[in-house]
Amino acid sequence: MTDEDKDNIERIRKAARAILQGDIKHLHILPAVAIKLLKLTKDDNAKIEHLSLIIETEPVLAAKILKQVNSAAYALPNKITSINKAVTMLGFSAVRQLAINLLLYNRLIQEGSKRAFDLLFFWQHCLYVASLSRRIAVALEHPDPDLVYTGGLLHDIGELVLETHGRMTYSDFIASMDKNEHAVIEEERRFFGITHAEIGHLFCLEWQLPAPIAAIVACHHSLPAEISPYAKYEAEIAMVSFANYIAWIQGIGSSSHDSHSTLQKTVLETLNVEQLDLEALLQQADQDMRMTREFYDVELPGLTTLRATLVKATINLSQISEVKPVETVDTSGKKLSSSLTAPHHSLDPDDFIPRTLEAIQTEFAFDRSIMFTIDPKRRCLLASYWQPEAMLPQTLQPFEIDIGGISGLLLECLREKKAVIVNTNIEPGNPILQRLNTAEFTALPVLNHNRLIGLLYADYSLSKKAIRAQLLPEIMPIAYELGIAMFNAKQYEQQKKHAQIDHLTQLFNKRMANNFLTEIFQRDKSKLTNIAIGFIDIDHFKQFNDTCGHQAGDDALKIVADILRSLTRPGDFIGRYGGEEFLFILKNTNEKGAYVYAERIRSRIERRGKVMSQRFHDLQLTVSIGIAMYNAGYANYSDMVEAADQAMYRAKSEGRNRTVMLSGSAVDKK
Ligand code: GH3
Ligand code: MG
Ligand code: MG
Repeated sequence: MTDEDKDNIERIRKAARAILQGDIKHLHILPAVAIKLLKLTKDDNAKIEHLSLIIETEPVLAAKILKQVNSAAYALPNKITSINKAVTMLGFSAVRQLAINLLLYNRLIQEGSKRAFDLLFFWQHCLYVASLSRRIAVALEHPDPDLVYTGGLLHDIGELVLETHGRMTYSDFIASMDKNEHAVIEEERRFFGITHAEIGHLFCLEWQLPAPIAAIVACHHSLPAEISPYAKYEAEIAMVSFANYIAWIQGIGSSSHDSHSTLQKTVLETLNVEQLDLEALLQQADQDMRMTREFYDVELPGLTTLRATLVKATINLSQISEVKPVETVDTSGKKLSSSLTAPHHSLDPDDFIPRTLEAIQTEFAFDRSIMFTIDPKRRCLLASYWQPEAMLPQTLQPFEIDIGGISGLLLECLREKKAVIVNTNIEPGNPILQRLNTAEFTALPVLNHNRLIGLLYADYSLSKKAIRAQLLPEIMPIAYELGIAMFNAKQYEQQKKHAQIDHLTQLFNKRMANNFLTEIFQRDKSKLTNIAIGFIDIDHFKQFNDTCGHQAGDDALKIVADILRSLTRPGDFIGRYGGEEFLFILKNTNEKGAYVYAERIRSRIERRGKVMSQRFHDLQLTVSIGIAMYNAGYANYSDMVEAADQAMYRAKSEGRNRTVMLSGSAVDKK
């Protein structure tokens, strides 16, 4: 380590002391056993005994591991009764990985109070990045994929440290970021005086984790400089960085706030991304997640070919967007100010478009600017944002330009996607010059994948300066950036929606149900009394598939979903919880109200089924419903969901097509 590195660590240590509650040495971030497991490296592979010993000192952990390896997911022929046996059967790395996952999960979830920083969400992110990093490592023939997995699992550990032990928590930080103008890492430095990567790194050193892991944690947001001692782990860092980026653009970030990650160009230079079969990788990572999800009962969005395509597209775009603005140099030789490259730091068009217009005006001294978007239905260019506000008074709004009527230079701009300057000398009759009352303007195409999505307009109508042609190549990259930002914003919106909505029924999915419940259970206990949770399960649904085909089965699910939607009040929750199971959450209701609601659903479905009996080969479409009302005996929402589930099973055993209300008393537990 050079002196400079030492100084840097000292600075981080100081900042950490200021921000953390308590002494770094005594903070309980991860259980001691987890740290021991994390320290084991590939060289310890032979030491199965060692691993078993560590695990066996934690009986609860050992029991959980045995439960997991004996579950259906592993499909082992014989029951495994000892950790030693598990290691021999499944291998060192699988068992170690499982143990670490369990420990981290327990740590997060037991501690987990849900605030702005959602620990479950965080955990999913870590697991996803770990699993994808490992898959990438395998694909690129890295000698130690386990190490990369661990690095992926821990890469954001600093966020956890801040959340659980910060004087100001990561939740506070997220809440303070309304419109994120800068990359998260810069915002962190502003808020905490230290970044999550720095503080995470500090703890890796404290725990004496293997150097490559510390390197990944320290450098996953910017690859180490050539002279850094971590430079030799560049490949491992790049794998995790890349996996992290893919997770973010799919909506699986470390927190659910509207932020995003940028992909460093150096990551792409280090990794041979073209060599990777993204579709297969995403599928594998999804498979890993599915196994974990089943075990822990958390939901992640499913991956599809579509997402692989999206990832590819976005990588391409980010490469361009990273290079362009930085390398653009204006005539005086100075780099473009950061305000001009701001668009890709935000995902909200209402935020980045006006700011971009403002920045263009400031930087090039334009008097006015307009962002036109294309309205494909009406075949017109529509002024969507403009500066200054007074430029287009109410009387001029909506300000539209019919695309069919465009000719001359502006047509060239749209067709050939090039920047143009239109003025009264060249086109004295141009209607836009008159409508906007100016002698000259410039128009630049805003592109997405080389497809025109908008037009950027600017003029010197007040100062009456001439627009210099040399200016155009300087503004073009900004128009280009804008196109990318708009594309990303749209993709992000769609991805976010995918992660929340069940595709078949268009109801919220289980993850959203859990989010909704977490939020409710955060409240003051006295306000929970009027909460009802209900499980709805279709009766003999398998017969629908078996007798009428899977398509008819899907149709039945949609019918039930539609009925549920139509009978549920705004403010209450209805979602698809699993295959043919739905969950409702009612607020402000009593036992009677919840029962009446459930019976209404039940009878409406039964009636609809009768109407459609032909389509369903005379099968009865009915549901069994179980309801639990909140009482103080429920420590958390999962207990209450379980109670509703039990009530539903009672409805099944009592003959189906009925509602069972679990009265306020205690619930049977297995
Ligand atoms: P019970 O009355 O006890 O609930 O019987 P059941 O047949 O409804 O229950 P079971 O849980 O045995 O079967 C549920 C079936 O639902 C099995 C599964 O194939 C089917 N299923 C789950 N998701 C979907 C889906 O998205 N579409 C279709 N068509 N079927 C699904
Ligand atoms: Mg079922
Ligand atoms: Mg069923």
